[in-house]
Amino acid sequence: MERVFNFSAGPSVLPIPVLEKVQKELVSYGKSGMSVMEMSHRSVEFEEIIKNCENLFRELLEIPSNYKVLFLQGGASTQFSMVPLNLLNKNKKAAFINTGTWSKKAISEAKKYGEIDIIASSEDKNYSYIPNLEDLNILEQYDYLHITTNNTIEGTKYTTYPKTNSPLVADFSSNILSEPIDVSKFGLIYAGAQKNIGPAGLTIVIIRDDLIGNADLLCPTMLNYKTHVESSSLYNTPPTFSIYVAKLVLEWIKEQGINSIYQKNLLKAQLLYDFIDQSDLFSSPVEIESRSLMNIPFTSPSDAINKQFLAEANSVGLVNLEGHRSVGGMRASIYNAMPIEGVEQLVQFMSRFEKKILEEIVR
Ligand SMILES: *Cc1c(COP(=O)(O)O)cnc(C)c1O
Repeated sequence: MERVFNFSAGPSVLPIPVLEKVQKELVSYGKSGMSVMEMSHRSVEFEEIIKNCENLFRELLEIPSNYKVLFLQGGASTQFSMVPLNLLNKNKKAAFINTGTWSKKAISEAKKYGEIDIIASSEDKNYSYIPNLEDLNILEQYDYLHITTNNTIEGTKYTTYPKTNSPLVADFSSNILSEPIDVSKFGLIYAGAQKNIGPAGLTIVIIRDDLIGNADLLCPTMLNYKTHVESSSLYNTPPTFSIYVAKLVLEWIKEQGINSIYQKNLLKAQLLYDFIDQSDLFSSPVEIESRSLMNIPFTSPSDAINKQFLAEANSVGLVNLEGHRSVGGMRASIYNAMPIEGVEQLVQFMSRFEKKILEEIVR
């Protein structure tokens, strides 16, 4: 069976060299005589894996020394409650920018723990843009300001970040490691691994030291960042195999350098947007300045054509192109591990499909 080009939004495509390394080491890792899956999380081998994984994160994202890197579980969705449980502790007030489905979920969780102000939103235009941050006028003192840096479902992305005196908390689930970032601008960054880091089951948290240790008294031990800081993410059994694969992905990124990954991402996205923008059949619902490099929604004039497109794309090995069930249409997720050939083949296919449909309409 040949590999397909998998445009899934998550879990998503992994680099082939990583999958091959996993395969090679699957039955016996190093000299251990066992798989990483079978290994104690307290073994010398695993401790080295998790340490290396952390060091690679620090190196690739140039994480300052006053930040901790945590390997947690529960997905990005657990961070929707973990952040307020730990950070909503002084003014009991947080600010959110609402840019779509994931922002809304984060907001509704945070509301359980304190007062939430939506200081900007793109709901008025179906989340097709990122609100103008120059217009932000933050008057109150907030425990944090939360943003969703890349909106996986709607296909938008921040290009600059809000200026604020409050700690900036960012859900980076779908664009972490896709471009260089200045971690020092953030108080806390979190990301589910299954989009741009590795297999599902692992969540990465990067947290500034001063935000640790202020959790609510009723905060469950497992949801307290302090617990995981003090035990170096080994308080309980972490998702060992996911951490191992994430380490391999980070090594793969390091070989190329994050800048070259970013350049490739720009190129891949441009290829697809350029085609969509000149197309007479397909269009993008997203405003140009706010477009994501990772998740690219597009649509044709009718549901029937969308359906035909998806079926025919599938039959030529271009799979998982359906838009999120909440928005419909199509969406191509082109994370780091999607090779440029995948995007080229998609564009060629779209072009052939367009020609065929337009000819049918004329006839
Ligand atoms: C996928 C996604 C989530 C949810 O992640 P889980 O790990 O499934 O909980 C949250 N935020 C963003 C931006 C996402 O893309």
